[in-house]
Amino acid sequence: MFRVGFSSGPVRWPRSVTWLLQTPRKGSVSKRFIALSVHQVVESVLDGIPEDERLWVSRALNIWFHPLMFDTVNGGWINLLKVKRSGMLNRHFHPAPVCAYVIKGSWRYLEHDWIATEGSFVYAPPGETHALVVGNNVEEMITWFHVCGCRIYMDDQGKQVDYEDVHTKIRKTEDHARYHGLGPDFVKQMIR
Ligand code: FE
Repeated sequence: MFRVGFSSGPVRWPRSVTWLLQTPRKGSVSKRFIALSVHQVVESVLDGIPEDERLWVSRALNIWFHPLMFDTVNGGWINLLKVKRSGMLNRHFHPAPVCAYVIKGSWRYLEHDWIATEGSFVYAPPGETHALVVGNNVEEMITWFHVCGCRIYMDDQGKQVDYEDVHTKIRKTEDHARYHGLGPDFVKQMIR
């Protein structure tokens, strides 16, 4: 892991940024991927955090996601994750990169020694297995996530028990939209 300072450029951030970039096993961090992700943070997040609770899809008790984009061309999605409980979320493997930008609160990965706080930008390279942990002192965390590929959920023995990809995310959001009467365009507008 290495940290780099925020340098001013064409992207205007709402606040200072701490970079938490996990070093891939081979080669360097994909600057192009990060640049694309940074662009998408600005495009998708800075409109504000939705206050209407119907726009948050329940994932588990006190865990929700607010979808922003479903990428059916490359396989992946962008969403806000909101957690209002402390403790560890399900451990999972990523075969493709993940970027995250912390908007509120803080969290860490069990496998790393850094803590992502408000304004942190996290890059996790392909091939990472991790479990997200929210500390006892955090009332609510909201983080923008760009997940490429899928999440493969593991049990304590490292055996695959479940997965999520853009298609399962779309189906889950469609069910949610139907239940709350959000209309067919709610999901459609986010599919690329
Ligand atoms: Fe993850």
